[in-house]
Parts: sequence; structure tokens; C-alpha cells
Amino acid sequence: MKQADAHISVLGAGCAGLSLACYAAQADSNLDISVFGKVSQAATQAHIWGFWKTGWLDMPASLARKSWKHWQIITEEGAICQTSHSYPYHALESTKWLSHCLNQLRGRAEFSELMPDEPDIDYPCFDSRTPKLPAHPMLQHFLGLEIYSERPVFTPDTLILMDFRCDQSHGIHFIYLLPFSEHEAMIESTLFSPDPLPEETYLASINDYLARHYQLDGYTELRRERGIIPMCETMATGQNSLPIGANGGCIRPSSGYGFSFIIKQVKGLVTDMGTGRLASSRENMRAPHRWLDRQLDKVFLRVLRRHPHLAPAIFLSMARALDGDEMAMFMSGFARPATYAKLIWAMPKLVFIKAAIGCYLMPAR
Ligand SMILES: Cc1cc2nc3c(=O)[nH]c(=O)nc-3n(C[C@H](O)[C@H](O)[C@H](O)COP(=O)(O)OP(=O)(O)OC[C@H]3O[C@@H](n4cnc5c(N)ncnc54)[C@H](O)[C@@H]3O)c2cc1C
Repeated sequence: MKQADAHISVLGAGCAGLSLACYAAQADSNLDISVFGKVSQAATQAHIWGFWKTGWLDMPASLARKSWKHWQIITEEGAICQTSHSYPYHALESTKWLSHCLNQLRGRAEFSELMPDEPDIDYPCFDSRTPKLPAHPMLQHFLGLEIYSERPVFTPDTLILMDFRCDQSHGIHFIYLLPFSEHEAMIESTLFSPDPLPEETYLASINDYLARHYQLDGYTELRRERGIIPMCETMATGQNSLPIGANGGCIRPSSGYGFSFIIKQVKGLVTDMGTGRLASSRENMRAPHRWLDRQLDKVFLRVLRRHPHLAPAIFLSMARALDGDEMAMFMSGFARPATYAKLIWAMPKLVFIKAAIGCYLMPAR
């Protein structure tokens, strides 16, 4: 692939593809941009992208629906509230972000629903099509409802990142609750397990949770979102192209968070194009996650798969060991060395040592 900056192609018109095209158009007004593929449904049917605001997320953060400086992690054994003034948590509607990207691209990019047979190897081609997954991967699967309650029941300044006080019989299960006001919230039943569940199971958990913790029997459903996110290493689709987004390994295997890593990756690639340092092939692209994070994620996932019942205690210990800034930095991929030390110290040692040895001796199992 040549380091030409006259033209770029983008395969797949979702979060990564449209964000890359948008930042590239802003950076170079002479660049020709071709975007291939149907625009993602997320541009017209909103779901939320949650992220901690970091230095590279100014634009998405400015368009967010709400942000919070406080968040909680709750189990049957206790609750920890973390606070970060430097890296508040933001909720951005997919429709808002993707329309912003599409507006920036109006008159600047050519859109075609059909994929090219072969990317033009004379120009950089960024590929955000769905990656290949290993057999029987761990998944994050969820169903969320945005609801309105007549009674003011929610605490709008504190979101619930994980509340494990729900049925653990189908896998690692927690409730994620974004309170937009005292009356409105997004509440999600989220599981980490290899098998997605029928809708009724998530709904029953949400209703049970609202009844038990908010004494709420009735509400108006405003919107519903459903998703499945792979929690594993993926294999990039395509050839002669630079994989980006989920296809470029941006989804963090241990958490399913991807948005922040996608924006960081695409902004980095746009900078590289401007400075003539764009990777010439996928093999020499920068990895979206640090080496140490990738190793820790592998061990962490192995522990979760083998000992799902330990998950609530592990997440609570993690929240107890770190302050809000440290947690936000770790989840966003730029933790300090001391944070890793605190985290490792907080984990159940024997289980993690066994998992680390297992990852080394039997990586595929
Ligand atoms: C419902 C949901 C909620 C999420 N919430 C969060 C969150 O809160 N925080 C967070 O950090 N991450 C979240 N994620 C994870 C991640 O940020 C998203 O999955 C993100 O959209 C990934 O961006 P992407 O561009 O790689 O993939 P996509 O946004 O899925 O875009 C890929 C595009 O390529 C198209 N495509 C794929 N294959 C082909 C093909 N063969 N031919 C043509 N077109 C193709 C698709 O139709 C799509 O339009 C969420 C994911 C989902 C699904």
C-alpha cells in the first residue's frame, strides 16, 4: 500500500469507519474519501456509548447526553462509590455521534453501499467490517431499557456501573444503570457468558431489580437496546487493508468497552497520514491495547470463565483497590505502573497465578 494521501477508502460505515472518515476530512480538506457499505443502523436507532472522558475524546464528550463524576460498583457484600473529576463517565447516543460524522462528511465523501471487489492497493484502505471470532467465545450480551418513572426514584449524579445483586444462574450478571434524571434512566441487564439469552430473561431481571431496589412496578418504556460484544481476541477480516475498530482489535476483551479505543485509534491513524507515517501493512500497525493490558485481560478472562462465581468479589476488590481516576485510566488503557501493582495485589492470588500459568502453558484452552 502506498503512503498516498490523495485518496482513502473506508470499508464499513459504523462507528470506526465514519469516525475515521470524519477526522480525516477535518484534518485534510483536499483528501478524497470513499466510504463503502450501508450506514450502520446505530445512526438512526440510538444506543449508548459509555466512556470515561480522556484527552482524545473532547469532541464525542461535547456531544454526550450526560456525564457523571460518581459511579458505583455493588455486590451483595458491599458497595463502593468512586469519583473522578478528571475523567468523568459520559453517555453518548450513537445517533448523535454518527450524525455528527455524517454531517461533517456531507459533500466531502463519496458513499457507496456496495463493497469493492478488491481494495485499490495504491491508496490506504481502512477496513471496519466484522472480524472473525474464535469458536465458542466469551460474550458480553445485554438488553437495556430507557424508562420514565412517574415517581422520582433515580439519583441523577451517580451511575451504577455494575450491580451484581441479580440472578447469577445464567453466568456473570450485573445491572448497569445510567440515571439521566430522577425520572429517567437507562437500565441494562448484562451478562458475560458464551450464550445469549431470550429477551424475557433480561427483562425479568430488569423488572425484578426495579421492584426490589426502587419499589418500581410500573414505568414507561421509551427505548430498547440489545447488543452482543465479543470478549476475546479476534481475527481481522479483509486483505490489503488496515483493520480498524472492532476489526482492528479495539474492543477490550476483559470489558467489552471499545468506543474510546476506536476514537484513539482512528485519530492516531489520521495523524499518521498527515505526517506520512501511516503503517504500510496491518502487520506494522500499532496495537490498540498495551501489551500488559492484553496479557492481564487474558488471565482475567480465564479466571472469569473458570470461576464465574468469583466475579462480584473480584470487581468489588478492584473498585476498593483503586480510586476513581485510577479506575478510569485503567479502563481507558493508560494506567500507571502503581495501578497495575494495586490491582494485582487486590486479586485472589492462587486463582490468578493458576490462570496465568494456564494461559502460558495452554493458551488455546
Ligand atoms: C449495542 C452496543 C452497545 C455498545 N456500547 C458500548 C459502550 O457503551 N461503550 C463502549 O466503549 N463500547 C460499546 N460497544 C462496543 C463498540 O464500541 C461498538 O461495537 C462499536 O460500534 C464498534 O465499532 P465498529 O465500527 O468497529 O463496528 P460497527 O459500529 O458495528 O460498524 C461496522 C460496520 O460495518 C458493517 N459491516 C460489517 N461487515 C460488513 C460486510 N461484510 N460488508 C459490508 N458492511 C459490513 C456493519 O453493518 C457496520 O455498519 C457497544 C456495542 C454495541 C453493539
